[in-house]
Order: sequence, then C-alpha cells, then structure tokens
Amino acid sequence: MLNNRDWLARVLELKEKLEEALRKRISSQPNYCNVCIKERKPCRHSSLGVLFSGGVDCAVLAVLVDEFVEKNRPIDLINVAFDELNGYLTPDRITGLKTLEELKNINPSRKWNFIEVNVSQTELDELRKERIADLIYPLKSILDDSLGCALWFASRGKQGEDLVSSCRGLLVGMGADELFGGYTRHRAAFKKHSWLGLHNVLNEDWQNISHRNLGRDDRVVSDHGRQLRTPYLDEDVVNFVRSLNSWEKTFPSDQGSTRIWRENSVKKFSVLYWAQICSKFQEKGVTVWFENSK
Ligand SMILES: [Zn+2]
Repeated sequence: MLNNRDWLARVLELKEKLEEALRKRISSQPNYCNVCIKERKPCRHSSLGVLFSGGVDCAVLAVLVDEFVEKNRPIDLINVAFDELNGYLTPDRITGLKTLEELKNINPSRKWNFIEVNVSQTELDELRKERIADLIYPLKSILDDSLGCALWFASRGKQGEDLVSSCRGLLVGMGADELFGGYTRHRAAFKKHSWLGLHNVLNEDWQNISHRNLGRDDRVVSDHGRQLRTPYLDEDVVNFVRSLNSWEKTFPSDQGSTRIWRENSVKKFSVLYWAQICSKFQEKGVTVWFENSK
C-alpha cells in the first residue's frame, strides 16, 4: 500500500495535520504543572498526560507529541483499570505496558510516567453516586456511565495513595474511532452493506459525537482541574479525514482481510499504515501495538 503514491501522499498529509493539531494544543501551555501553577513557579514536572490504553490511537498521540514537549519534562501516560478481582491485570493494562516499552525504545531519553489508576468496586460505587452521575447528567445510559466513570478516574490520575499526575492538559484519542471506523458496528455495517453501509454509519456517528460524548467528557475531565485535549477532533484533521473515501480511511491492507476482522475493527490498518511511515515507527516497528489493539 505504501508504494502507492496517492495513498502515501494522503497518509503524509494526515500525519502533518495531526502534528499541527498537537502543536497548537501543546505549544501555548505555560511552563507550570498543575501543582506549581498556584505559585506561578516554572517547573520541570509533567504538565501533559495522555489517556493511555496502549491502543494505536493513543500510542500515535504519545509518539507525535513527544516532539512538542520539552525534552526534560516527563509525559504522563495514564492507564485505568477496574478489575480488582484479577489484580487489575486488564487487557488495557497489559497493552499499555507493552506500548510503554515501545515508547521507551523510540525515545529513551524521555521520562515516561506510566500511571496505574486502579479503581476498586467500592470506590467506583461510592464516587459514581456522589459525584460522577451528576457530571454525566443528563446522559444516563449504561454506556455513558461506564465511559464517564472510566474517564473521570483516568483524569483524576491517582495511583495509590501517594501519587497523583501533575498534568494540566490531558490528551485523549476521542473521535478516532468515529473517523476511522473503530467500532464493531462499523465492521457489521461493512459486512452487511459494503462500503456504502460503512460510509453511512460513519456519517451518522459523526453527526452524533458532539451531543453524545463531548459535553460529558469535558465536564468529567474539568472536574479535576485539567483540560481535555482532543487532537483527532481538530477541524483540519476532521475535514481532511472526512473528505476521504471510506476505503481510504479504513483500508484493510494487503495482509488479507481475515486478520482485520479478527481484530474487530476496520480502522487499525489505516492508522497503522500512516503511523508506520513516521521515521521513528519505521525504525522500531509497531507490531506490538497492532497485535494488541482491540
Ligand atoms: Zn510543577
């Protein structure tokens, strides 16, 4: 695929647009973390976090944003897990740790703070009732509840009793699934009605994203005094991706379609392909992310 000149040009354009989206969101940040800002004391603590499941969307953000954060400032990678019974060893935790290793390879001089946010059932029940339900309101479906709770605990960024992320901005991969077809229903639509079906369902999801997700997520993150940053929702990125045909956004790849469907997503290959052409990815490869991405 990457030998196709048109495809490669689009891939490069997307990469540039996403980098610009990140630059805009990062470079205007003052030199304080969330703690030192109270005294306006410039510091070297982490001031940026990435909501980090270890999947390809957030991995791409972490790699690209590395360019825009001062070299001696750590970047927080916040990974949330709710599975108390299994010692919080969730698929996202395992993928997150593997991707962390990749990031360390890509930039060994950067301090990557992997923050493990473990949430017990008791704490979840308590805080959901006391606080999170009000932030999510007027939404109240099970999906809103689970996404809202996950984002609330992630953006609190608290590991155990002693460690809390000092980030002021939180980068999230929100919108990538809607743009690149990352949900099971996208796959189902493609199987049933081919490209037109996929096109329609992607359009529908895009129309719904603002009232379905954005207000909720903004309130949930702001509750911790942090700012939500969503580079995939940058206007230029969005306009560009939406101008592409469905097969360009989600193009399966020459490795055979079986593998894609097994991954339960149509998106991963397209993101992977453009990610791969970043020189850093080419040097190190991104196989781990792909194999573990949901
Ligand atoms: Zn500080």
